[in-house]
Amino acid sequence: MKKEFGEKFASITDGDFTVKYRANCYCDAVQYEVRSEPVDAKICHCLGCQKLHGAPMQWAVIFHKHDVRITKGIEHLNFYNSELKKHERILPCKVSCALCGTLIADEGRNMWLAFPSLFDFGGASKVPEKFKPTCHIFYSVRIIDMDDDLPKWSGHKNKSEKL
Ligand SMILES: [Zn+2]
Ligand SMILES: [Zn+2]
Repeated sequence: MKKEFGEKFASITDGDFTVKYRANCYCDAVQYEVRSEPVDAKICHCLGCQKLHGAPMQWAVIFHKHDVRITKGIEHLNFYNSELKKHERILPCKVSCALCGTLIADEGRNMWLAFPSLFDFGGASKVPEKFKPTCHIFYSVRIIDMDDDLPKWSGHKNKSEKL
């Protein structure tokens, strides 16, 4: 790939990059790799996630950008800043595949919030430990109740009331 995706990401030519996990969009046009375990995993119930994902909640795992590299389809990436409602790569923004519409990640300034359903683990029993959600956030605006023992924050983790 000639075009670099961004200076904060791992380089596609980095020989020391040992792939731990691979992810791809529905149509396979976009693929990326990570070389670390996630630093956290959360389920977000905010209204933005509900709409943008067309789902009751968003399950995200967080990586440092320097542990991520896009291996295919940079030219097919779409960017959307939901705060400004602008179809531009103004961080933080949503990254999606322009061909199939799959949401690829939420790109922050330094972090990459990835969606585990793009990793194809092959069932709940095979999901790696570090990908398992540690909490629910924005639970106060949830659209369905969750029957689990995970902490449930009304807003951001550690910065809101625990419900
Ligand atoms: Zn796609
Ligand atoms: Zn959210």
